[in-house]
Amino acid sequence: MPELPEVEVVRAGLARRVVGATIASVEVLHPRPVRRDPRGPTGFAAALTGRRLEGARRRGKYLWLPLDNGDALLGHLGMSGQLLVRPPGSGPERHLRVRIALEGAADDAELRFVDQRMFGGLSVSAGGAELPPEIAHIARDPLDPEFDEDAFVAKVRRRSSGIKRQLLDQNLVSGVGNIYADEALWRARLHGERPGDRMTARQVHELLGQAREVMNEALGQGGTSFDALYVNVNGESGYFDRALHAYGREGEPCERCGTPMRRVAFMNRSSFFCPVCQPVPRRRRTSPVPRSVAD
Ligand SMILES: [Zn+2]
Repeated sequence: MPELPEVEVVRAGLARRVVGATIASVEVLHPRPVRRDPRGPTGFAAALTGRRLEGARRRGKYLWLPLDNGDALLGHLGMSGQLLVRPPGSGPERHLRVRIALEGAADDAELRFVDQRMFGGLSVSAGGAELPPEIAHIARDPLDPEFDEDAFVAKVRRRSSGIKRQLLDQNLVSGVGNIYADEALWRARLHGERPGDRMTARQVHELLGQAREVMNEALGQGGTSFDALYVNVNGESGYFDRALHAYGREGEPCERCGTPMRRVAFMNRSSFFCPVCQPVPRRRRTSPVPRSVAD
């Protein structure tokens, strides 16, 4: 699944390749990826045709291309989606779902939405050029210069839920996916089940700093590529997996202390951690035990 650094790589690629172009035609080859557009496939195509692409922006893992009429083309890559910029004549990809012909950019090209599993999709966001209302509830990500770190730390410390669950909560902070959460927790020597209200402000700041660092490293390397389906805007895979210390390393020695890394189930996915560097937090007492009984 593409995580934030991959999505940022795609955004930067789109900014270079398609901004300034005009949409000449739109072909929806499968209705599912445009299911969130109330206009339906035909209305989706009509709302885009003739519009000029004014930018390439991102909030968390959502991308949008502001249009010259104040609307926006909003996209999410889901589990397996790709946005590719291809020469017009090149053969269709196996899972090509939407084809958008562009003219007037540096060279004529097609913007293609390719998605095998189709959890992702595209829609036209009415009035969404500045910030699509559909995603206005999503928190900023740690790489966003306007991310309010102190507010994040305060919110985390008011909640009793586990810190990893909070890191993945898009209403608190966006873009920290499962892989980067595990890496940041390993680097900060924290267990993901540690309750937010049992962390110091310093620990939360440290964890966020580690998350930011691991995401920046991934960005520098073009994004993580665990999923063979993921490729960036030009179709090249990113390579970051060699730099991972936690994710996917079950049974391998911790790079700090040599203890075999563990894997546990977590929200239909997995968490990887070192049981020594990242000790499981002690259970919280739910209610004080009466002295007479405890004795
Ligand atoms: Zn360790």
